[in-house]
Amino acid sequence: MSSSRQREARMSESLPCPECGAMQMSYTVENCQTEDGLTIRRLRHLKCSACGARFFDDEAMHRIQKERANRPLAHAV
Ligand SMILES: [Zn+2]
Repeated sequence: MSSSRQREARMSESLPCPECGAMQMSYTVENCQTEDGLTIRRLRHLKCSACGARFFDDEAMHRIQKERANRPLAHAV
């Protein structure tokens, strides 16, 4: 009578890359720059070490939105 719930959803495993299909997608912490030139320092996100594609999960997206909201308005309209 043991509840064998051994499903550990660890996020540290490599995942298949949607871009190139290589099992080289893994979480990395790096500075990232968004399309509009905003730099997010030490952002945790998925990166494919085969083709270099970056992907942002929900957590990363929230982080980006936060940083964007805090950004000083350099180009205020
Ligand atoms: Zn790739």
